[in-house]
Amino acid sequence: MTEPRVGSRYELKVDEEGAHESAVAHDYFAVHPGDVEEVADEGDLLGYVHSYEVGSTVDGPGIRFVAFLSGCLLRCQYCHNPDTWHKRNGYPVTVSRAMGEISKYAHVLKTCRGGITLSGGEPMVQRPFVLRLFRRCKELGLHTCMDTSGRLGDRFTDQDLMDIDLHLLDIKSGDPEIYQKVTRQPLQPTLDYAYRLSALGRPLWVRYVLVPGLTDSYDNVEKVADICAQLTSLERVEVLRFHQMGSDKWKELGLDYTLKDCEAPDAALTERVRGQFRSRGLTVY
Ligand code: SF4
Repeated sequence: MTEPRVGSRYELKVDEEGAHESAVAHDYFAVHPGDVEEVADEGDLLGYVHSYEVGSTVDGPGIRFVAFLSGCLLRCQYCHNPDTWHKRNGYPVTVSRAMGEISKYAHVLKTCRGGITLSGGEPMVQRPFVLRLFRRCKELGLHTCMDTSGRLGDRFTDQDLMDIDLHLLDIKSGDPEIYQKVTRQPLQPTLDYAYRLSALGRPLWVRYVLVPGLTDSYDNVEKVADICAQLTSLERVEVLRFHQMGSDKWKELGLDYTLKDCEAPDAALTERVRGQFRSRGLTVY
């Protein structure tokens, strides 16, 4: 395999080199140096792309071309893309080559009021690649969107943010201890990034994954809702219901999946949580 695969995000995609690197580390949960490093800023930048989907309607407005970049510091218990955690899980792709693919769809993406979304993994791991790609997309007149946890937000300058039309910011908990339990990382960098986006007036949608028994407590949701209520550039909150569609990946990677017995939230719980956000006057989906 020499290039990123196109298709559903729920298919396991780990190349031999990535699997080898993981085996060498003896711990797939470990964060490897490549998972946090930026790509060197020179020439026709090389990024690591896990896969892409064309035609998504759930990753920003309109119809989206979604590229899943590899590398992530978080280890979310409910991750449905653990095959993107390590940068070497992806395939090396130059900006020029990626733009060759994206430009094929530029006309239809614009017609459908959509654009390009960079997701992952965590796009911020590959900041120079992301910024170059977004700049080229803006030159094509495409709407740009980044799906991020915000963990590495301090890597992005205020100027960098001007080429990102919309952030999908995942706030996985409002309680620092629960956030740490869910992701193995601290909450504060995400909050710092959220408040900075707000202060700069950069549009954002907050995403909250509702997991029964993990993120669903009343107090925890209240904390996230309070945070959201302070974000003046927030356009909507999306409450995403936990599902098991990524569970097979954990099994195939030989990982300990702690949520195997967890069920999707029922309608009553989902409505209670959405109601908590709505009570702050927020637009909620
Ligand atoms: S931030 Fe996203 S890709 Fe990274 S572990 Fe969490 S859910 Fe998975």
